Amino acid sequence: MSHNLDRYHRQMLLPAIGEAGQKKLLNSKVLVLGCGALGTVIANMLGRAGVGHLVIVDRDFIEMTNLQRQVLFDEDDVRDGIPKAEAAKQKLAKINSQIKITAVVDDVNHTNIEKLAQGCDVIVDGVDNFETRFIANDAAVKLGIPYVYGGAVGTVGMTYAILPHTEFGNSAWEQAGRATPCLRCIFEQAPPPGMNPTCDTAGVLGPAVSIISNFQVTETIKILTGNWDAVRDRLLSIDIWDNDIRQFKVARAYDVGECTCCKKRDFEFIDGKFSSSTTTLCGRNAVQMTQKLGNGEKLNFNDIAKRLEAHGTVKANKFMLRAEIVDNGEPYELTLFTDGRAIVKGTKIANVAKSIYAKYIGG
Ligand SMILES: [Zn+2]
Repeated sequence: MSHNLDRYHRQMLLPAIGEAGQKKLLNSKVLVLGCGALGTVIANMLGRAGVGHLVIVDRDFIEMTNLQRQVLFDEDDVRDGIPKAEAAKQKLAKINSQIKITAVVDDVNHTNIEKLAQGCDVIVDGVDNFETRFIANDAAVKLGIPYVYGGAVGTVGMTYAILPHTEFGNSAWEQAGRATPCLRCIFEQAPPPGMNPTCDTAGVLGPAVSIISNFQVTETIKILTGNWDAVRDRLLSIDIWDNDIRQFKVARAYDVGECTCCKKRDFEFIDGKFSSSTTTLCGRNAVQMTQKLGNGEKLNFNDIAKRLEAHGTVKANKFMLRAEIVDNGEPYELTLFTDGRAIVKGTKIANVAKSIYAKYIGG
């Protein structure tokens, strides 16, 4: 695809970018993990900046309560039941038709992360839980790909750019003396479920997410253009309500620690040591279940819809089927995707979700 560089004029005026930097952006491939509050801002700004290929992965669909902060979506997307990754792709294609956008409607987990990350220049974090972040961190260190962490809840956000120590120590950033500790050097373990505030319990202010994700975008642009010296080597934490901004020096965490991931190169999260087939979804009274079907097999929504119509209201399009069911006097919303994945809304308990699934969909 031939690119017209004129549209990037204002960005190319910056001495650290210039025409050479712009061409690097256009030749780059970035993996955006999650397309919610963080991910929509990340994909939006990277697409406008002219990152040549964006791969956007998200398992979820759009709800009205997302529109307060998820900047690529509108009420039509909620009404039409479009998955987030697909809706983002459609919107971005109108914003910049010169770049390539790949939408992946799927869960990010230990079975698919390496395939998703392979060949990407940067992985940017827009996910909502530490299990997925550690999976991404494992992939980043194993494959030698920079990984830009970010997260926000309430009015507080954190971000940090990982330029990983690689197997042979010969990456461009290591040669520039700029490798940084990985996420597990800093946070050894994921906080246990229920111990951390979520968007559901604590709420979230749109600008808190927007600011953090724009910091992530900035670091990503520095990395893609090879401006290694400009990449922030500290963990940044901001409370935009209290105007409290802190930067934590974390460089020593690699030297003094015995990191399982980047020092021992034991990729426990990719190996599935901590993986779960059911996940309680952050910020929602819902459980996701991953039930992978056989090779290329797809669910037949027509058959399932007919069966479920006896139990409640059923809506389906080519991406998903949604049924509102009352079971034992309790209301549940069951959403099915063609690959067999399901989200059961109305419970946080995995076994309740499993039984609802088994009852109405089958094993
Ligand atoms: Zn580490």
